[in-house]
Amino acid sequence: MIQDGGLPQTGCYTDRCERARKSHSPRYVASLALVFPAAKRYYLVDASPDLTRQMDLIDEDGFRENANLRGPFDGIFLTHAHMGHYLGLALLGREGLGIDRTPCYCSSAMKKMLSENAPWSLLVQEGRINFPQIPMDSWINVDGLFDVKMIPVPHRQEFSDTVGYIFRGSQKSILYIPDIDSWEKWDKSVAEVVAGVDVALIDGSFYSSKEIPGRKIEDIPHPLIPHSMDLLEEVSKNNSKVMFTHLNNTNPALDINSPQQLEIRKRGFELAYEGLRITI
Ligand SMILES: [Zn+2]
Ligand SMILES: [Zn+2]
Repeated sequence: MIQDGGLPQTGCYTDRCERARKSHSPRYVASLALVFPAAKRYYLVDASPDLTRQMDLIDEDGFRENANLRGPFDGIFLTHAHMGHYLGLALLGREGLGIDRTPCYCSSAMKKMLSENAPWSLLVQEGRINFPQIPMDSWINVDGLFDVKMIPVPHRQEFSDTVGYIFRGSQKSILYIPDIDSWEKWDKSVAEVVAGVDVALIDGSFYSSKEIPGRKIEDIPHPLIPHSMDLLEEVSKNNSKVMFTHLNNTNPALDINSPQQLEIRKRGFELAYEGLRITI
């Protein structure tokens, strides 16, 4: 579950990206699917540039039947307008699958951005996606299958604002915040929010501020993994499973059995991975 630029990243020839090029276990940009096989209903959370292969991971017959009818998803939830989180929508448009009448849940700023800018506006004009009204910070029920709460989070607002989500099924709840500038800038206590869910999938972009030679980390702020572990150590011991996602290609926690990866496990945290399944 990788940051927007992917692994390997374009034009990056470090050992880690070179190993990823040769690997038979591909890594994809962070995204989730909510799968309800009995109801034959399927939902996408962020449409990444790797969407083609990620959809292949949903191997239920019902999903493929729906996709054949140009309706693979019964809803698409978007966090924000940075490329890793919505470029995949283009693959669902006229030049690609050509989906039909799919609800797209997002903030009103994101809806405006998609509606007013090509190529996304064509998806809207052709009726391929529509925007159900969804209030911030309130629970809504979706199709009688699960509840969702959209939560605003502070993150660089170049094209839209940014939200996270809590999804609550009949058994478990999941918090999804792949991108945030800092936990301290948030108007909520991350420890309290995480304590309220069973599983938290959160921003694990960087492990150290020295990871990106030639670029200033202040230009791309994210909470560092060790700092997030400090803030969440208590709740993760008590009741909530915390998994880091959205790892940048420079993050040494991506390397199997690296000291950073071992430290994350030792402290009781986990890393999300491609094909991870969580029952909600
Ligand atoms: Zn991102
Ligand atoms: Zn972002």
